[in-house]
Amino acid sequence: MAKAIEVEAARREILARVRATASQNVRLGEALGRRLAVDAVADGQFQPFDNSAMDGFAVRAEEVAGAGLGSPVSLTIVDESRAGHPATHAVKPGEAIAISTGAVLPAGADAAVRVEDTEVEGERVLIRAAVAPGENVRRAGEDIAAGETVLPAGTELGPAELGALATIGVDPIPVHRRPRVAVVTSGDELVPAGMPLRPGQIHDSNSQTVPALVRLAGAEVVMTRHAPDNPQGTRAALLRALEADVTIICGGVSVGEHDHVKAALADLDAEQVFWRVALKPGGPTWFGTRNETLVFGLPGNPVSVMATFLLFVRPALLAMSGGEPTARRVTARLGADYEKPTDRAHAARCRLELRRSGWIATPLPRQGSHILTSMVAADCLALIPTETAALKAGDPVEVELLDRATSNMGR
Ligand code: AMP
Ligand code: MG
Repeated sequence: MAKAIEVEAARREILARVRATASQNVRLGEALGRRLAVDAVADGQFQPFDNSAMDGFAVRAEEVAGAGLGSPVSLTIVDESRAGHPATHAVKPGEAIAISTGAVLPAGADAAVRVEDTEVEGERVLIRAAVAPGENVRRAGEDIAAGETVLPAGTELGPAELGALATIGVDPIPVHRRPRVAVVTSGDELVPAGMPLRPGQIHDSNSQTVPALVRLAGAEVVMTRHAPDNPQGTRAALLRALEADVTIICGGVSVGEHDHVKAALADLDAEQVFWRVALKPGGPTWFGTRNETLVFGLPGNPVSVMATFLLFVRPALLAMSGGEPTARRVTARLGADYEKPTDRAHAARCRLELRRSGWIATPLPRQGSHILTSMVAADCLALIPTETAALKAGDPVEVELLDRATSNMGR
């Protein structure tokens, strides 16, 4: 049997075969979670004009330099500058112009006095506080300079990014097309949720977890299929699925007599890159290509399928949509001793807590690859290398955070 590949080598093999999807123009209102296909560059400065940071009066600072509570300076109000409606006059000596927050600073003025420091008397205003030149003024281009790259290509568009694009006036924008993913589950024992179970049957959970993980990785599920445990049925289910950008088949990739996926993939001219990763859970993972399609055969156990998706499929989907495939990893300290054989790496489901000493990752008590509820409880996967035999509580350990990859919050 071929030697199992190490996790990082497997990731390199996968990423070496990724090609970014083409770009498409999308309206800003539809672009949440998409990734920019080009640098977003400002074609002017933003905001475009000097404007007031306060409601009050635009003045010439030198004229109110001596103003105070007991020594007000009286100026003639000659105009108003409202947001969206600039004044038509300039501020000349002895004059002030009423101004609102965000309104254009009139010519001649170089500062604004807060309305709280003023008192209007008919056509005139008493200024009761001095202001320095530039005080309460927001300069043109303070936020964004002309020609500035506001967001580099590959940036994931969240609320602030969408707002920044709107600020520079760009809509629609080029983003990477979402990778199209086909998901096939396999197994004669599986019944969709909502159906009663007959003896020996279980509900199909991978047909829920995997499409959800795909969507949270910014990709589109274009097909879901179920394959029975026989060669013809497996081949038939895979045939159309192999037309997507990425094909994921769950289960049937192990060494059992009724595991038909590898043979069906070979029959359909998919080329194997690796089969078996030195990893628990997730050992029998298969990866290959068929024409332009990346093909993943993930082990069927509900935890294995999630862990291998997160470690292998998600980075590929992020890279395909123009993003950084690097996982969100931090170094934490183990909350308990951990022992394992040195034949393969472990991805241990852990709870993560912030204590005074820093982040503590504590392995959940039940690590069986069929215990899906442990994924519900987990905050991260602690990645314990193949060659590590034993770790003590307090030892540093690299953990892959699960929050953005598995939580729907904010999407
Ligand atoms: P397999 O990889 O096909 O050998 O399956 C390994 C284990 O995962 C078996 O216990 C299967 O019943 C279970 N399994 C496979 N596919 C699914 C699925 N879609 N939903 C829930 N459990 C599954
Ligand atoms: Mg099976």
